[in-house]
Amino acid sequence: MEYLPNIIFAIFLIAGIGYFAKNVKKLIRNIKLGHKVDASDHTSERWKNVVNIALGQSKMVKRPVSGFLHVIVYVGFVIINIEVLEIIIDGIFGTHRIGLSILPESVYGFLIGSFEILALLVLVSVIIFWIRRNVIKIRRFIGSDLKGWPKSDGNIILYFEVVLMILFLVMNATDTSFQNMEAGNVVSQFIAPWFEGLSAGTLFTIERTAWWLHIVGILVFLNYLYFSKHLHILLAFPNVYYGKVVPKGKFNNLGAVTAEVKLMMDPDADPYAAPAETAEDEVPAKFGASDVMDLSQVQLLNAYTCTECGRCTSECPANLTGKKLSPRKIMMDTRDRLEEVGKNIDANNGEFKDDGKQLLGDYITNEELWACTTCNACVEACPVSIDPLSIIMDMRRYLVMEQSAAPMELNNMMTNIENNGAPWPYNQMDRLNWKDE
Ligand code: SF4
Ligand code: SF4
Repeated sequence: MEYLPNIIFAIFLIAGIGYFAKNVKKLIRNIKLGHKVDASDHTSERWKNVVNIALGQSKMVKRPVSGFLHVIVYVGFVIINIEVLEIIIDGIFGTHRIGLSILPESVYGFLIGSFEILALLVLVSVIIFWIRRNVIKIRRFIGSDLKGWPKSDGNIILYFEVVLMILFLVMNATDTSFQNMEAGNVVSQFIAPWFEGLSAGTLFTIERTAWWLHIVGILVFLNYLYFSKHLHILLAFPNVYYGKVVPKGKFNNLGAVTAEVKLMMDPDADPYAAPAETAEDEVPAKFGASDVMDLSQVQLLNAYTCTECGRCTSECPANLTGKKLSPRKIMMDTRDRLEEVGKNIDANNGEFKDDGKQLLGDYITNEELWACTTCNACVEACPVSIDPLSIIMDMRRYLVMEQSAAPMELNNMMTNIENNGAPWPYNQMDRLNWKDE
């Protein structure tokens, strides 16, 4: 019986980490449904982006208030979790504050004191975040694309963080030996008086309860990540690494189509010549994307990384002028469809069975796709280097090249370019007539 708590702790730990690992495996499998992308170029630039954008949060702080608060929550949360190492060792070996037997009291006190200050700062920041979301109702948090689960998810994670920080401080405040040490209890010394007058046994029970709930809460939080927009805590790093490093606004033209257009524009080209072998090899089985399997692995990673912050949508000119398009929704729809496909594969022994649905039409409408001005503002605004525009362009490519389903104005323009070499309906011979007017 003496080892019962240690055994229970080990079971919790193994179950928590095991379930998380299972979901990570599923996540990787789902991302691999997309086609591969060669990211072996610009290695040093990619690492620089990881350091600046993912670690340094350089794009987050472009909006100083939310950016600064986010940095506090991020840094605080990561650093405080160093304490979890001690909890895990204590839990497995039945020790109490193992750090004190390894480190000098002053160093241990400094560490825990820093964690306590960060915990307080995280608490304050999280409360401000909650107020911005639910009381002030900032526009990007009340958009029509952020109803139901995505809205609740944003709040749930804030509640999680509040509870975890409170448990950490209560655990310290009710730990009599830690309080008597008078080092490191920078914040908890002000909470300790709330428990004055309680017996040593009751204090011990409260401290143990907070300790257990804290570690169980962290394991639950870890497993909640897969179902939440907070996957970005982990995925922001690979996502930024694989992010766009080509010049802003550069599109990934199809080699085969480019070659054909060049041939068309070349006055010396032999119209009866057989197509070049390389161009033929480059012709894809399907032009553009109608479902998640047609997208690239980076685009699918983008979908899982989206924080649903809405910065993209708040800068989208189409959305601002009342169009149906929201780049945030494009990313959320892509993730939802990818999850649906993943569940389909799980239910059919690893094989995807056609469910009569697809990303195009069932999730994202033509109206949304054609509302995009391709201005790139969403890509520029995204704090974690997500590229909603590339998905929009791939789906438009499908509409144009596979379904000839472009709006009439575009079809007319494309026909004119093909026939007249210009978007206007005039014969090429008449193109300079304007100078005689
Ligand atoms: S590129 Fe399209 S989706 Fe992105 S901000 Fe511009 S109009 Fe909106
Ligand atoms: S795509 Fe980027 S900017 Fe848009 S909601 Fe997702 S994380 Fe935020």
